[in-house]
Amino acid sequence: MNDKSTENESALVLFSGGQDSATCLAWALERFARVETIGFDYGQRHGIELECRADIIDGLKKIRPEWARRLGEQHTLDIPTLAEISDTALTREVAIEMGEGGLPNTFVPGRNLLFLTFAAALAYRRGIANIVGGMCETDFSGYPDCRDDTIKALNTALNLGMDKKFELHTPLMWLDKAQTWKLAEQLGGRALVDLIVEKSHTCYLGERGARHAWGFGCGECPACRLRAKGWEAYAAS
Ligand code: ZN
Repeated sequence: MNDKSTENESALVLFSGGQDSATCLAWALERFARVETIGFDYGQRHGIELECRADIIDGLKKIRPEWARRLGEQHTLDIPTLAEISDTALTREVAIEMGEGGLPNTFVPGRNLLFLTFAAALAYRRGIANIVGGMCETDFSGYPDCRDDTIKALNTALNLGMDKKFELHTPLMWLDKAQTWKLAEQLGGRALVDLIVEKSHTCYLGERGARHAWGFGCGECPACRLRAKGWEAYAAS
């Protein structure tokens, strides 16, 4: 498992159970011979997204037999420390709004830096060279840890700090939400689009109640509005 070619053919996908990470998982399954996933439980209000993962995995296995063969272990890491040290609308029962500095109060400082660092530590142990994340600069909410420059800098730091040649992949970096739906369609046809609509979770408030054309959610929070807008543009194209 530890030889270089196996490492290079393996990927670890940051898989939260949301639209973006589900699309990234399909993207990785098309490219790599072995794909494992990592999800983080940090006391998020939308913790329900973690429960969505099993249904998405089951669905992916049914879409393509080779995806079923490539899917490896699913990892979940508890990092309650993140909720302890951050005070945001993603981990507390407060309204989602814009805060100081033009960042929404859903911003958990350093969240993606921590996620990617934990992912790299796990990838190191699992003999995996590729790490895939759904960070995106196009439709992003202004989160500085989603910037391409941030990811590239962290890639360099991880490689230096762990003496490895990890490659961080962000296939959604320059896509808007409509293009992300389109990518899902290219990867797995209508079956994958339907799976992501039905089973992935986006709503920041953790609501699954109402079923909209684009999936389940409150329909009002920034994450739901972004998903709805992208779906409308995709459906119209
Ligand atoms: Zn919502």
